[in-house]
Amino acid sequence: MSELSFKRDATFDKCPKCKAVGKLRRSRAQSFFEQVVKKMGIFNYYRCRECGWRGKRFSFGLNKTSLKTILIYLALMFATAIIVRFIIQKIALK
Ligand SMILES: [Zn+2]
Repeated sequence: MSELSFKRDATFDKCPKCKAVGKLRRSRAQSFFEQVVKKMGIFNYYRCRECGWRGKRFSFGLNKTSLKTILIYLALMFATAIIVRFIIQKIALK
């Protein structure tokens, strides 16, 4: 499976039940619905090795790298908007 930079790995998250850190392991989808959810990349299923909790965690999250990427994209969009406006003004003034 290809991992996008926006994908978040909840493996090192706290377990919502016993608060153990780094005990979550990815769990296989156990139903058709879970498979669909996983395929869509919204949630991933995890199981806690400490207390046996099983549930879904958002697989789409922001880490520092993706936040940086978004900021770069925004800066590029902003720059493009200024350039486009500049060109349009030039054309309009002719
Ligand atoms: Zn747990």
